[in-house]
Amino acid sequence: MTGFDYSIADFCRLVGGTVLQKNHNAPLRHLGIDSRKFDYTDASVFFAIPGNRRNGHHFVDALYKRGVRTFVVSEAVDLTRLPEATVIRVDNTIRALQNLAAHHRARSNARVVGITGSNGKTVVKEWLYQLLYMQFHILRSPKSYNSQVGVPLSLLLLDQTHEMALIEAGISEPGEMEVLQKMIQPEIGIFTNVGEAHQYHFESLEAKVKEKLRLFTDAKTLIYCRDHELIHRAVANDQDGKPRRLLTWSLSQEADLRILSHSCSGNHTNLEGSYGGKTITIEIPFLSAAAIENCCHLWLLLLFMEIPDAEIKRRFASLTPVAMRLEQVAGINGSVLINDAYNSDINALSIALDYLVFQVKNKKYTAILSDILQSGEARAKLYKRVADLLKTHRIDRFVGIGPDLIQNRACFDGMNAEFYESTDEFLAKTRRKDFKKENILVKGARDFAFERIIEFLQEKSHETVLEIDLSKLVHNLNYVRSKLKPDTKVMAMVKAFSYGSGSYDIARTLEYNRVDYLAVAYADEGIALRNDGIRIPIMVLNPEVSAYDAMIQYRLEPQLFSFHTLNRFSQALENAGEVAGFPVHIKLNTGMNRLGFNPDEIPQLADAIKESGRFEIKSVFSHLAGSDDPGFDVFTQEQISEFTAAADELSNLLGVKMMRHILNSNGILRYPDAQFDMVRLGLGLYGLTTFGPEQGALKPVSSLKTTISQIREIEPGEGVGYNPSHRVKQKTKIAVLSIGYADGLPRLLGNGVGKVRIAGEVVPFIGNICMDMSMVDISGVDCAEGDTVEVFGTHLDIYEMAGHLHTIPYEVITNISRRVKRVFVQD
Ligand SMILES: *Cc1c(COP(=O)(O)O)cnc(C)c1O
Repeated sequence: MTGFDYSIADFCRLVGGTVLQKNHNAPLRHLGIDSRKFDYTDASVFFAIPGNRRNGHHFVDALYKRGVRTFVVSEAVDLTRLPEATVIRVDNTIRALQNLAAHHRARSNARVVGITGSNGKTVVKEWLYQLLYMQFHILRSPKSYNSQVGVPLSLLLLDQTHEMALIEAGISEPGEMEVLQKMIQPEIGIFTNVGEAHQYHFESLEAKVKEKLRLFTDAKTLIYCRDHELIHRAVANDQDGKPRRLLTWSLSQEADLRILSHSCSGNHTNLEGSYGGKTITIEIPFLSAAAIENCCHLWLLLLFMEIPDAEIKRRFASLTPVAMRLEQVAGINGSVLINDAYNSDINALSIALDYLVFQVKNKKYTAILSDILQSGEARAKLYKRVADLLKTHRIDRFVGIGPDLIQNRACFDGMNAEFYESTDEFLAKTRRKDFKKENILVKGARDFAFERIIEFLQEKSHETVLEIDLSKLVHNLNYVRSKLKPDTKVMAMVKAFSYGSGSYDIARTLEYNRVDYLAVAYADEGIALRNDGIRIPIMVLNPEVSAYDAMIQYRLEPQLFSFHTLNRFSQALENAGEVAGFPVHIKLNTGMNRLGFNPDEIPQLADAIKESGRFEIKSVFSHLAGSDDPGFDVFTQEQISEFTAAADELSNLLGVKMMRHILNSNGILRYPDAQFDMVRLGLGLYGLTTFGPEQGALKPVSSLKTTISQIREIEPGEGVGYNPSHRVKQKTKIAVLSIGYADGLPRLLGNGVGKVRIAGEVVPFIGNICMDMSMVDISGVDCAEGDTVEVFGTHLDIYEMAGHLHTIPYEVITNISRRVKRVFVQD
């Protein structure tokens, strides 16, 4: 269900203005303001927003050509060029968008939480989501969409299934908050804090606080920190607001939630508080003061929502850091590089350090920082604080760049620290081999041009690479989640080297995005993940008897599919001294006829489980054989009912409840009623399925890229490569690519069957594909040696390539050789 669904008549009424032309009447299901990111269909409406750099009106023609048929404009457009469109003219397209959003919000039953303040809005929103997503179906503003345009776009995502909405509101000028308040109408408010940012447009800090407070004019409950005296006074003096429940917390005085103590141990901070006469505690996996403040707001909110203490504790302990503009890339010599181009004040530094020490892969932590340019604080005091932060985060190595840092180097006495006058000096004196297997934070003020350091420390990949876009992976995960009930768990399949994509980085991204389970094919894949620090439960699909001991040691959960495996695993548990409760999964065969117990073996299976007494049956599951094909619908339904009956029988015989799951990626879309407790997401995660009618909703995560090694011209009558069967008829320009069948480029694609993309042009292979090289015909293409070549990916559909080979994308991608380097990128 999409939330945005209006008839043209309703739509025109709600945005107001004048209908200039009404030649398109289909219902509207999508809305957008950015012509580059748009659903180009006739169910979409485009709001043309005049901006300083990009005026939306300039793109109306182009969108029309691509099939868009409804436009809201505020400037003149040439209607003769839009003969089939409906065009509405308003005075102000942003206002029209806001009016529509206000209406859309008003018809939703979701409980809306409005969040404002100078810092921490996005983090508070993201953490609140992490704390509540398992309990409610929640909409949250994407990224930091908190402006006059961002807020309406967020609200328009609301649909009837949302139970809560977490909406950020940010302002830079007087008068703006009133507009946002009318749209958001929050029931609960959180006022994070107040700082100096955007002071420019306000006569005083008081005036700014007062303006922000307007967001909560009609809120029933407002949460803030009593210690922010300005906020407290403004709330107390606020005449406009209706009576509302004020909830406060404080580190130093009476408040609803009084923080009695906070102390750090290792990577955690322990907080002790008093609420409603009780003393309670939580532990948060962060150290920074900013994180403590953000968590206290949320702790108070969860207490107010009457979530049990034990549950609150559990949820806070598993919060994960929110990467604002941090970017993680593969560094040289096995390092992880964290590039933070965000502003370089001390708060941002503490957040970045929290993120750095959250990395589990390498045990060594390095911070490369520049002078902090923006603070008014006395230098020595400032750098003392920096040093303290580095110490609390137990940073192993510090590289300071800039004259201020050199002058204040005494602050870092006792640390493993090195200093350089400038970025140039650092680059001149450092060699790549000086960095090895460390997690490196690179954070500098803009003037220091630290992008040169990133360039220097990044893993180099000139040859053939498989580029994996982790942002798309997360997008796919979230898209599939939006199709699931809120409490359905997700098991992510990372078997076969994550469908060819590489294991650790994918697994870490999935763990970070809170999937519930991972599944690998063989025990050694699971062991590698555990050694890299992956902690979430891992199921092993093909547990080999020889690996049982290691699986027990690494807490890898086997799927048991036969009496033989069950007995042998039980024996291995006994040998290892594991007497009871080892997590295992029972695989049932309901028609796929691969691994699994047959339903008629259930009574005997129940006996064997009881007799062993060593297992905790985490789940019982089966696998669909034809979930993507309507031709198998009857068969699939039979599989589902057979599975249900067999799982019921097993549960009854054992007298225990266990999770059930049967859906794979295509099953999720086509049989949503069979979600049971968990789904197993494979190709959908990697964007390797079109996901039925919602074409384009999932994005392929992988691109195979190579480079041109040499360019040459051949004369008419000449051929190319081994056993050239084909002679060219005219002068032909050839590019030799550094990719061959040993890299996983199938030989069948040679001689014009397959194509690649170079300099924006799609060109065919010529001659046979060799082991390590291949040749393409680039006649007429403007390109040079060293240029990048796309074999498949963003522009060339892997489906097309699979089609040439009469196979499925799965096979293409899992055949990419391990020698092809996997490079991970992120938006
Ligand atoms: C691979 C696999 C899946 C995932 O299937 P997709 O079609 O890739 O989503 C689910 N369950 C089992 C048992 C599998 O082996």
